[in-house]
Amino acid sequence: MPMIDRQGRQITYLRLSVTDRCDLRCVYCMREDMRFLPKADVLTIEELDRLCRAFVRKGVRKIRLTGGEPLVRRNVTTLIAGLGDLVADGSLDELTLTTNGTHLARHAEALAAAGMRRINVSLDTLDPERFRGITRWGRLDQVMNGLMAAKAAGLAVKINAVALKGVNEDEFDRLVEWCGRQAFDLCLIETMPLGEIRADRADQYLPLSDVRARLEQNWTLKATDYRSGGPARYVEVVETGGRLGFITPMSHNFCESCNRVRITCSGALFSCLGQEEAVDLRQPLRSSEADLALEQAIDRAIDRKPKGHDFAIERGGGPAVRRPMSVTGG
Ligand code: SAM
Ligand code: SF4
Repeated sequence: MPMIDRQGRQITYLRLSVTDRCDLRCVYCMREDMRFLPKADVLTIEELDRLCRAFVRKGVRKIRLTGGEPLVRRNVTTLIAGLGDLVADGSLDELTLTTNGTHLARHAEALAAAGMRRINVSLDTLDPERFRGITRWGRLDQVMNGLMAAKAAGLAVKINAVALKGVNEDEFDRLVEWCGRQAFDLCLIETMPLGEIRADRADQYLPLSDVRARLEQNWTLKATDYRSGGPARYVEVVETGGRLGFITPMSHNFCESCNRVRITCSGALFSCLGQEEAVDLRQPLRSSEADLALEQAIDRAIDRKPKGHDFAIERGGGPAVRRPMSVTGG
């Protein structure tokens, strides 16, 4: 039975967080003193695999693994190899990953071998000092090594950069130029009000309409109808031949065409990134070896999928939802 919600949207895309842990603490994502889940609450690799297979039976064609940092999860390559079999036998169109790239160098070959064709790597700056500042302690050279390993393994790379006022806003030209040279796609993202962070988000929020207008002073941006299955809208940068995407959850709401759901590493199914409501899949998963109860819980969640988010960033305002992006996954 395909998953179709009350707005008639068919769910074909699953984003699965395989861990809430991360080796970095990006300032817009996590607090430095972030508390992580106890191990017993986190789904095992076998449970994650079973969940994915249930969703594939219900019509999911694309799975993105995320986190936290997916590549810090122990035995994540076992999960990836297993899901790769679903790509090989045609049950899944695409298996992909969003990573911060710090552990990519040693995993790139295995990802490609499992049938992954493209990955997203989050990178907000090309400046080592600034990178350390944004991630609190990350090393840019590790990410660069990872990126080169991904390229060597034949993986197509998309760089995701969050546009942060006063932090990396002077770097977008450089990112466009560098990504063009490396043959990486680039996607710029507006910061979203997810999770309590110490800073005021209004100080960080930069509407991408402004960024685009500034880029257009130096680059010819040609409209394309290329879509990657997610919410990004793409243009071609004529001078580099590269693709540039904009994800604008704040300034342009794209909920009417939402085809995805997200699951946390503890099995909470969020049918909307921007709402608090979740359906627990861990209990039905653990209560029976058969998948009937699990599938019923999934159906309940899809039936209750909200029409959309109502994000707003106001000075001094709190987050739209309390959990940070690292819980539901990017
Ligand atoms: N650790 C991996 C990474 O950084 O790519 C995967 C998880 S991370 C939560 C996924 C994406 O969410 C990253 O590109 C990150 O920049 C983005 N992100 C985190 N918090 C965000 C926020 N408040 N607003 C917009 N994007 C955010
Ligand atoms: Fe970790 Fe990704 Fe969040 Fe940065 S954005 S703290 S890398 S989960």
